[in-house]
Amino acid sequence: MPTVTVLVLGSANADLVVSVPRRPAGGETVLGGDTVVLPGGKGANTAVAAARLGASVAFVGAVGADQYGELLRRSLSESGVRTDFVRTSDRPTGLAYITVTPDGENSIVVAPGANSDLGVSDVDALTWDDVSVLVCSLEVPVPTVRHAVRAAAARGVRPVLNLSPVVDVPADTLALLDPLIVNEHEAASLASSFAGLLDLGPRSAVVTLGARGAAVVTPSGVVEVDAPEVSAVDTTGAGDAFAGALAFGLSSGSSLVEAARFAARVAALSVTAAGAQPSYPTSEDVRRTG
Ligand code: ADP
Repeated sequence: MPTVTVLVLGSANADLVVSVPRRPAGGETVLGGDTVVLPGGKGANTAVAAARLGASVAFVGAVGADQYGELLRRSLSESGVRTDFVRTSDRPTGLAYITVTPDGENSIVVAPGANSDLGVSDVDALTWDDVSVLVCSLEVPVPTVRHAVRAAAARGVRPVLNLSPVVDVPADTLALLDPLIVNEHEAASLASSFAGLLDLGPRSAVVTLGARGAAVVTPSGVVEVDAPEVSAVDTTGAGDAFAGALAFGLSSGSSLVEAARFAARVAALSVTAAGAQPSYPTSEDVRRTG
């Protein structure tokens, strides 16, 4: 069993996707197509993205004792993610109910379930032996993320936080991040400029810019990295692919700018295929298209 170098802490959800001719109004019933069940959740997606690239990854999360929890454990394992730190909660596995209309627009209801139950004791149960990077995202309780970021920093492990969705995070947590990752909309809700993100306290920040790539923000300035031009099929989970690839790059010794350049390529490749996890490339895929 290889030693773990990247820990990913966050949510795991089963996505229940159904196509509908139109969105039902209140009190109305609409018949849809067959339900498609896909593994998802920002945390699990990030872990799978990093593992596909060859990182030695363990996922830290909670699922229920139900068929969806099994599906998520299986999809993680099949992508090479270690599941030793996935706890089975008394609550049901997190579910995302997604309806898709013919115009391609999604409406999503998330029932966080077991994800809400991921606690500080789950962090205390971790072993950190060879871990060099911790990546967290925010569909799990903030106190758990805070505890994990502090535990990482105390051990000299590099804490990365994908602040998605945007919620209030304590200043003492933000101050440890290297980097804070946000997308363009999240960045705009937090600061009036990219450089202004550093006023929140992180050592560095990375802003993903969709088809335009990403901006790396450090005290010495802002460096933009391009995403290759691709024909986009499905951008679901692109931000998670970026976070996973960035963690892989950092854990392999790349600088932040190099890791962001690589992550922008990986995430661009991920939008050329349908779904989140199924669209994530391997290192071989990245080399072939380089
Ligand atoms: P999120 O999915 O979190 O909103 P973005 O839309 O910024 O994040 O996308 C994350 C990354 O995915 C980008 O930095 C880029 O590398 C890649 N990406 C997203 N959309 C495209 C696109 N249309 N063409 C090429 N790359 C893309």
